[in-house]
Amino acid sequence: MSSAHSEEFLSASAQKAFVPEHRQIMDYNIAQYNKAVAAALPGFANLEQLKRKAHLLKWKVIENLDKLLPDFEANFLKNGGKVIWANDAAEARDEINKILKKANARTVVKSKSMVTEEIGVDKFLQEQRIEVLASDILREKYLQADAGITGANFLIADTGSIALTENEGNVRFCTTFPRIHIAIAGIEKLIASLADLAIFWPLLATHGSGQQLTVYNSILSGPRKQDETDGPEEMYVILLDNGRTDLLAQKDQRQGLYCIRCGACLNACPVYKHIGSNAFGTTYGGPIGSLITPHQQGMEEFIHLSQASSLCGKCTEVCPVKIDIQHMLLMNRRDAVQQNLSSKTEQWFWKIFSKMVSKRLWMDLMGGKMKNWLIGAFFKKHWGTHRKLPHVAKKSFSKQYRKKV
Ligand code: SF4
Repeated sequence: MSSAHSEEFLSASAQKAFVPEHRQIMDYNIAQYNKAVAAALPGFANLEQLKRKAHLLKWKVIENLDKLLPDFEANFLKNGGKVIWANDAAEARDEINKILKKANARTVVKSKSMVTEEIGVDKFLQEQRIEVLASDILREKYLQADAGITGANFLIADTGSIALTENEGNVRFCTTFPRIHIAIAGIEKLIASLADLAIFWPLLATHGSGQQLTVYNSILSGPRKQDETDGPEEMYVILLDNGRTDLLAQKDQRQGLYCIRCGACLNACPVYKHIGSNAFGTTYGGPIGSLITPHQQGMEEFIHLSQASSLCGKCTEVCPVKIDIQHMLLMNRRDAVQQNLSSKTEQWFWKIFSKMVSKRLWMDLMGGKMKNWLIGAFFKKHWGTHRKLPHVAKKSFSKQYRKKV
């Protein structure tokens, strides 16, 4: 079934893929990225083994989220912080609003993060008439802001800490000067132990930007202690579900929750390389977005993303935590068919196709003209105006062969 999102995706993709300037920018950026990553990866003594270990660590965490999340909460509380559980984006925004209202906060500094984009923090704060500063030309203003809002790259269960990694230094401004720090993190960001950062930080840096280690790496364990000179008076972590437990419930696809958001699969993907991130119309684009978004935001509305893949497997090959992305995209397609979400046209096509190819007699019954008409009838709309539909020969190979021998 075609949703409004899928129509928008098709139209944005068809447009973006044929803008030469867009393609040039994408090609240049990806080439630079590839160069940097190729130079950084040989720094690992045994990359394959490290990736397997990272996969295993995330597997353990995701299979034990019900125990490890309360561990994180208990340890973060011990450190003097406060934990808030949010079922969805609206709840998360509501909690942020309550914290800011209670503290009479008027200005907020915010570091770039996908999760704040996911829950629409900027728009929400503007509606509340709270000034949001998010640009590093404004550094002097950071010093006076009432609250700082960040994401979190990792939640560390055994120490009750969050880990943040960045190149600009803005996160440190957001978390050091304001009297309140609110960190928002998807529940899948959990790792079991502080020691695991020794694996995840280098994997994230190399696969994310080709650096051996990102410039600024911070571990924050609650608000400022008595003997400390900086840090917030209050620190909150909002643990966000927002559809993640729906993905967790899918045994075949829950690996999508292992993602550390390095972006490597995006840069490797032939679809993403042609259309870029905006065409996806979702917070998480590229192969990983195509895998998780149908679960987090609705199969009916977003299954088209799982279909927009060549299934070449390059995403799986480059993933530092070895998520079997292309296989899981197929699982999403399987689920959509089982839930009767494929279009009637597609259902009809496969019925006719499977009938036709089941017997030579059927294959040869229809001439090339009829076959070409059928291809046009089923595919013309989605084939786009820039490509020619495949053309079937007048006579099948079998007929031509029989005539020759
Ligand atoms: S799924 Fe993509 S973004 Fe996530 S860790 Fe793997 S390569 Fe990186």
